[in-house]
Amino acid sequence: MNGQPDAVVVGAGPNGLAGALRLAAAGLRVQVVEAGPRPGGGMRTEELIRPGFHHDVCSTVQPMAVASAFFREFDLGSRGVRLIQPDVCYAHPLDGGRAAVSRRSLEETAAQLGPDGPAYRQLFEPLVRHGQDVVDFFLGSRLRTLPTRSPGEIIHFGLNGLPNVRWLARRRFDTEAGQALVAGAAAHGMLDLTRPLTAALGMLLGMLAHHVGWPLIEGGSQRLADAMVAALEEQGGEVVTGHEVRDLREFDGVPAILLDTSPEAFVAMAGDRVNEGYRRWVRRYRHGPGVFKIDWILSDPVPWANSDVRRAGTIHVAGTLEETIAGEAAPAAGRITDRPYVLAVQPTVADPSRAPAGGHVFWAYVHVPPGSDVDMTGAIEAQVERFAPGFRDTIVERATKDARQMEAWNPAYVGGDISNGEASLRQMLFRPVPRWNTYKTPVPGTYLASAATPPGPAVHGMCGDNAARVALREVFGVRHAPPLRPAAR
Ligand SMILES: Cc1cc2nc3c(=O)[nH]c(=O)nc-3n(C[C@H](O)[C@H](O)[C@H](O)COP(=O)(O)OP(=O)(O)OC[C@H]3O[C@@H](n4cnc5c(N)ncnc54)[C@H](O)[C@@H]3O)c2cc1C
Repeated sequence: MNGQPDAVVVGAGPNGLAGALRLAAAGLRVQVVEAGPRPGGGMRTEELIRPGFHHDVCSTVQPMAVASAFFREFDLGSRGVRLIQPDVCYAHPLDGGRAAVSRRSLEETAAQLGPDGPAYRQLFEPLVRHGQDVVDFFLGSRLRTLPTRSPGEIIHFGLNGLPNVRWLARRRFDTEAGQALVAGAAAHGMLDLTRPLTAALGMLLGMLAHHVGWPLIEGGSQRLADAMVAALEEQGGEVVTGHEVRDLREFDGVPAILLDTSPEAFVAMAGDRVNEGYRRWVRRYRHGPGVFKIDWILSDPVPWANSDVRRAGTIHVAGTLEETIAGEAAPAAGRITDRPYVLAVQPTVADPSRAPAGGHVFWAYVHVPPGSDVDMTGAIEAQVERFAPGFRDTIVERATKDARQMEAWNPAYVGGDISNGEASLRQMLFRPVPRWNTYKTPVPGTYLASAATPPGPAVHGMCGDNAARVALREVFGVRHAPPLRPAAR
């Protein structure tokens, strides 16, 4: 970029790029600086193992990227990003070839739950009917204010979502399938499932399946990152890769800086410009468990015993409600378990373009104690084999990353915590520090914009968008952020 930019964004994850696009829409010259060799952060897709096999290194399943206000405005379709909906959104296999499955249709999902069908409908129907308002409230950083749209449904959500998911599952459902279905979705939150608020994520993700589905991006999530970068470049912005920022003084004179980083990284970069009070709060910010991930190339699709599971995009592999709770209790308590909750995604079931003809990619991760270097390959493959006998015979090659390697790959994953901070009740209300405006930092003109700010993890772009709006108001006096520029024709 010739001359000094008006704004620098550190980190080209979904939040960094969303923030950059909002700033660029206001006519600012924006430079994004990224440590990795390619932009995208949690949206990167790589030929990790063999040419032609495209593995999403992080996110694959993108309901938030469809439902969030930022991406609705970005308009994926107009940018050439194609969504693919698997026949089954997510599945939770049980012993004996049984499974609980969530489909786009709430009615079909409820019908398959047999005696738990009416309770399922009662829980989710009001939320799905007001899906957009529910999503906008929870992703709009308004958790500390009263809802103005669909307040009744949001209160229904709050009353059922505030407690833990064991309470919700047992209170609402009688069958193993009904209980496991909601617990499996809740376990995405990487918390001990007996803690408050775990029910909320199970409900939000469950509702999203009926509201927008759990789609994948054709060709891999990188396509979304590339579309965001292209949109930025069309407006004169640029992304510099391969540069890890360690000191904010590098940008002295730049009016606004957005940080798609961990809060700890911000404090380190800012040095003595951060007061001791803020520093202390960041030291108290808790990171959750780390992640151990495997990417496989398979010769055949995973031979799940249940035929519906074979058609699912996402599979929660843990067994019953109590087994799911036990699987998540271990990493939360700093222990390794040989019966972990395994979160698995089989992209080529819905999107064969990710592998050469006849080939398959598959990934799974488990939660582990922070910074763990324990190899979980055996435990993960045993859990999959339990519900898919013959799975091991389909493995052609695998690549693994333990929690330490996760952090080395992306400095925002402290100890391998892919959520950039535990999503507990306290840390969702005040993320990362107890301030009214948590995007603001003590360094004037510098804003946190990552998943360590509200509304937290996932590919929705809202943390970056919210931070950019604060920067526009405070630094540039733009009270009403302009809409994103439409796609060039
Ligand atoms: C294995 C895995 C699976 C996931 N699956 C899903 C899923 O299916 N659906 C979903 O919605 N979410 C999923 N997620 C979570 C999702 O990817 C993240 O919540 C999301 O990417 C967070 O966005 P972000 O922009 O805050 O941070 P990130 O995506 O982590 O991006 C931060 C970027 O900043 C860069 N950076 C950090 N520090 C510096 C520095 N000092 N200097 C320069 N650059 C820096 C990093 O290299 C990175 O590119 C998954 C995550 C993982 C790891």
